Amino acid sequence: EKERLRLPPWLKTQIPIGKNYDKIKNQLRELKLSTVCEEARCPNIGECWGGGKHGTQTATIMLMGDTCTRGCRFCSVKTARIPPQLDPKEPINTATAIASWGLDYIVLTSVDRDDLADGGSTHIAETIKEIKRQNPRIFVECLAPDFKGDRECIERIAKSGVDVYAHNIETVEKLTPYVRDRRAAYRQSLECLKTAKEINPELITKSSIMLGLGETDLEIEQTMKDLKEAKVDCLTLGQYMQPTKRHLSVIEYVTPEKFKLWEDKGNEMGFLYTASGPLVRSSYKAGEFFITSILK
Ligand code: SF4
Ligand code: SF4
Repeated sequence: EKERLRLPPWLKTQIPIGKNYDKIKNQLRELKLSTVCEEARCPNIGECWGGGKHGTQTATIMLMGDTCTRGCRFCSVKTARIPPQLDPKEPINTATAIASWGLDYIVLTSVDRDDLADGGSTHIAETIKEIKRQNPRIFVECLAPDFKGDRECIERIAKSGVDVYAHNIETVEKLTPYVRDRRAAYRQSLECLKTAKEINPELITKSSIMLGLGETDLEIEQTMKDLKEAKVDCLTLGQYMQPTKRHLSVIEYVTPEKFKLWEDKGNEMGFLYTASGPLVRSSYKAGEFFITSILK
């Protein structure tokens, strides 16, 4: 077995949990809403839930169950060819819980449902509409599947009233077949982002790259250029962390200084914002960034 890299000091530090955290956690239990933030034990929970300078709270919810039809080699979500049926009450229940929670910004993510004719796009769009109906002031970001590039599915989400259309490219082109499920293609992901923007130019589009999988600086730069060319507005870069021993190994722990260079590069290239750091996840302080860089 290959020797595993040691965890660098900047990933070992304990992040203080904000004072809002307990309040929200208790509320959540009452609402029976489960968040990715909690389930993934995300280290950013204090910052995201506690709200930043502007008090903008962000949380991430996963829709369409806990079982994915795909099997990306970096992801710990469980896989099945035919996952359990969708819960038809999920859109309304989720919206009701979110509305009573009183958040400012919600990120909806989901598993991929290649088993469904519409990839689950109707279900996701309904959830977005219902969230907006119950609280028109909340901002909604949807981290969408690629829907195998299906334009109708992309359109359903792009025209649902969503504010931010996100789809993650995850890694550089060369590593894509090795890192992502074989059905997820690099060019197809770029095409999805471009199509969403074409369909609704008012959307903010967003994508994310994981670093530390063996990509070169030139390849990262090329991916950033490709995203810019696909009219992507916002970019996040974070460290890949191996969820279990059965998943891809970390090839490199990228230093905070290097992440800062990528942030500068993103700003130089004209992204509306670039969030880049070892602990950054695609939804990292999304609300705070949205308010300060986009609505300003
Ligand atoms: Fe995980 Fe998404 Fe890949 Fe499914 S499609 S395995 S949820 S990264
Ligand atoms: Fe939740 Fe995403 Fe923030 Fe983590 S980065 S706490 S998953 S919103």
